[in-house]
Amino acid sequence: MILNNLKDIDDNFFSVIIIGSGPAGISTALKLEEFNIKTLIIEAGNLEMNIESENFLKGNILADEFNDISTTRARMFGGTSNLWGGHCNKFEKNQFDNWKIDYDELHEYESQANKILGLKFYHSDFYVKKFSNNFNQYNSRLSADNRNFKDNYYEKIKNSKHIFLSLNTTFLHFNNIDKKITSIFCKKNNNFINLKAKYFVLAAGGIENSRLLLWSKEKCKNLFKDEIPIGKYYMDHPYYQPAEGFIKYNDVSMYLNNTKGNAREFFVDCVNRILLFPNLKFRKEKNIDSLTMFLRFSNKDYSNKDYIDKITCMAPNFIKRYIEKKKIDDLIKFTVQINQEQEPDLDNQISLSDDLDPYGTPLIKLNWKMSDKMKRAAKENLINLGDFLIKEDLGRISIDEYIFSYKEFKTKFNGRHQMGGTCVGDDQKKSVVDKNLKVHSVENLFVTGSSVFATSGHGNPTYTIVLLSLKLGEHLNKII
Ligand SMILES: Cc1cc2nc3c(=O)[nH]c(=O)nc-3n(C[C@H](O)[C@H](O)[C@H](O)COP(=O)(O)OP(=O)(O)OC[C@H]3O[C@@H](n4cnc5c(N)ncnc54)[C@H](O)[C@@H]3O)c2cc1C
Repeated sequence: MILNNLKDIDDNFFSVIIIGSGPAGISTALKLEEFNIKTLIIEAGNLEMNIESENFLKGNILADEFNDISTTRARMFGGTSNLWGGHCNKFEKNQFDNWKIDYDELHEYESQANKILGLKFYHSDFYVKKFSNNFNQYNSRLSADNRNFKDNYYEKIKNSKHIFLSLNTTFLHFNNIDKKITSIFCKKNNNFINLKAKYFVLAAGGIENSRLLLWSKEKCKNLFKDEIPIGKYYMDHPYYQPAEGFIKYNDVSMYLNNTKGNAREFFVDCVNRILLFPNLKFRKEKNIDSLTMFLRFSNKDYSNKDYIDKITCMAPNFIKRYIEKKKIDDLIKFTVQINQEQEPDLDNQISLSDDLDPYGTPLIKLNWKMSDKMKRAAKENLINLGDFLIKEDLGRISIDEYIFSYKEFKTKFNGRHQMGGTCVGDDQKKSVVDKNLKVHSVENLFVTGSSVFATSGHGNPTYTIVLLSLKLGEHLNKII
């Protein structure tokens, strides 16, 4: 149901108030609806993006190379699912070691997450196959029509008897008595209002969750313990294109066909791209974290002489061999794009800046950098891929110079996957929420979204966000 006026609502009407209507907030609400629990979602934005949004989302970025963070979040109903690409991946079990959440228990919500995200099945499931001694290949599943939560869930919520939605309603801070939140202070259109519930869920997005908690820590005396590390261990997936090359498409196809586990199926289904990541053995051997290498294939017109000259410089003997045999058409060009895991690092953190948003809440300051270990991981993986292509005589790659010098890493599209800042864990000095996503020491406040991730993995985050939010809904039902 859509609520335009919040003034006349009885204080005890809502059991749960969720702050934010992105995939995290909506998934939690859908789970609570199954138990007939009355839930209010407040959303700062409207049904469309407002030009003023930028003034709430910008920040002071102290980073190597980072996108303007006001462009990587959407302040509107459906949240950043209005911008996303719809690719869904699962974490590897071994990347979940520090989470304190049981991997299998969390993945019990898979079939519901698949439904919520409208996942298309290229195959029967996510899966991983061996590609070479050091690399595995995996598939990502695509959300139907890049499932936009606004288009898919507005009507459903409008017609729901248990989910209530208030648009243009911005959460400003909590009100508390000691360790319990009594109400939230919000601005709806031009009016201020206090809203009450038994439980509160912060689902405002990867960066906003930290910003709003940091500000609440300043406003609400005694609510949080002093040492709570809000904003710390921020992680991203740096994304960049450091190499290009050529492969013998048919031979790679044959190679994959002969690889144990029928990996060729992938090759065909992954619409001209292969997704590779280093296996655990290689990562341990080299002491590196993971990353995805997207090999994206494209056909080229080999009648263009300038182009032939350019590619000949890349791998002279290899290309000449094909020119001489008049078999250049057998080669297919590919680029390598990297989406990289970032380990939690105390120096990467969100804090409050002195600049304020239009409602007087401080904007963020983000300190972020790629470690040398990450840069070495990129180098090790690319060199290894190149060696593999030479050994099997399947192709060649040319790697950009910055991968070897570690200088000016040409990352682009950072800030899309915002993880950490309110990490899950049981050590109250190193984490913000417990395994049920409850904020340590606060009786009735939960956080959901990628800000609770304890590690970043190499895959896209939203699938795991939806799993966590469904699990949270189930937990809330047990305690209400
Ligand atoms: C260009 C781009 C491509 C992407 N592609 C992919 C992809 O292919 N696969 C993938 O898994 N992920 C992708 N992502 C990331 C994905 O969009 C996010 O992981 C996901 O949207 C996060 O969901 P969320 O609900 O936690 O946060 P959001 O979607 O950001 O939603 C948070 C909501 O909270 C609201 N809010 C914020 N502050 C307040 C407040 N004070 N009061 C009330 N409401 C508030 C916001 O307006 C927003 O609606 C992409 C992101 C970008 C930018």
